[in-house]
Amino acid sequence: MEKVVIIGSGPAGWTAALYTARAQLAPLVFMGQHPGGLLTTTSIVENFPGFPEGVDGYELMARMQKQAERFGARTSFGVVESADFSRRPFTLVVDGEQVTARTVIIATGASHKHLGVPGEHELENRGTTYCATCDGALPMFRHQPLVVVGGGDSACEEALYLTRFGSEVLLIHRRDCLRASKIMTERALGHPKIKPVWDSVVTEVLDMQQEKVTGVRLKNLKTGAESILPCAGVFIAIGHVPNTKIFKGQIHTDENGFIVPKKGTMTNVPGVFVAGDCADHVYRQAVTAAGAGCAAAIDAERFLEAENV
Ligand code: NAP
Repeated sequence: MEKVVIIGSGPAGWTAALYTARAQLAPLVFMGQHPGGLLTTTSIVENFPGFPEGVDGYELMARMQKQAERFGARTSFGVVESADFSRRPFTLVVDGEQVTARTVIIATGASHKHLGVPGEHELENRGTTYCATCDGALPMFRHQPLVVVGGGDSACEEALYLTRFGSEVLLIHRRDCLRASKIMTERALGHPKIKPVWDSVVTEVLDMQQEKVTGVRLKNLKTGAESILPCAGVFIAIGHVPNTKIFKGQIHTDENGFIVPKKGTMTNVPGVFVAGDCADHVYRQAVTAAGAGCAAAIDAERFLEAENV
């Protein structure tokens, strides 16, 4: 029986692992489908304290893992398929095997949101992508016009990264001003290769017949006019959905699936705690996720202490 199981391996998961490991609870971390989480798809993280020159997202996650393991955290590549929180100890099914735990810290993060338009899914890996850092350098995107969809910090970051490869980067946003922070807005809109396309949405990714991205069909939301914009790649950066499906019906969430903590990091199930982007639709920063991971670890430790474990 595990004292603490942590589901997820982003900043929240690794920080929870570090703290519970130092409390000698030998936590078991299930890293999930995307070890390191969304941050591993970021190029440079400039706002995590302690790294004045910035740090590569993948490297930051690798360092957090190493630090947690140094104090006795155990890690597994397992993917948690289901959880039964109806009785204690809790039971998780991980790659078909049962694991029992006295406490669970949910740090499952969030996944990229999809547009849901024709051609998007069909042309994934053929020009449609959700990660410029992962795919931007591919030969098919070099010296070609590229499209980024979204108006937040992610979209700006993706657009700026893609200026290294594309001939131009068209930033398509559904409104006429960006949601991104001031600094990212200024950087993106000030870049000579980035051209904003305002008040517009992608209604189709083309061309399914050619089995590769050749352009996007656009609709101007103010005028209703439709147009086709030729491009070799569509980089979608329109936000995230929380990874909380497997807890549905057991753990209280809001209407968008974000877990709603009852008090601190406690969920509606005593012994189940939550940290990071799966419970945060407001701040969504690596540092706030790490802070929440710390809080969840302390809450779990106190919970076990009260039970004399
Ligand atoms: P976000 O801030 O939620 O922005 C999502 C963007 O996509 C918004 O502009 C939104 O439009 C647009 N959008 C949403 N659904 C859409 C749809 N169906 N069709 C078209 N457009 C759609 O998400 P994010 O940019 O991924 O950022 C998430 C968090 O991470 C934020 O807190 C951000 O500050 C942080 N972050 C920071 C950095 C950095 O500091 N370097 C980098 C990346 C992310 P509306 O504006 O009209 O709603």
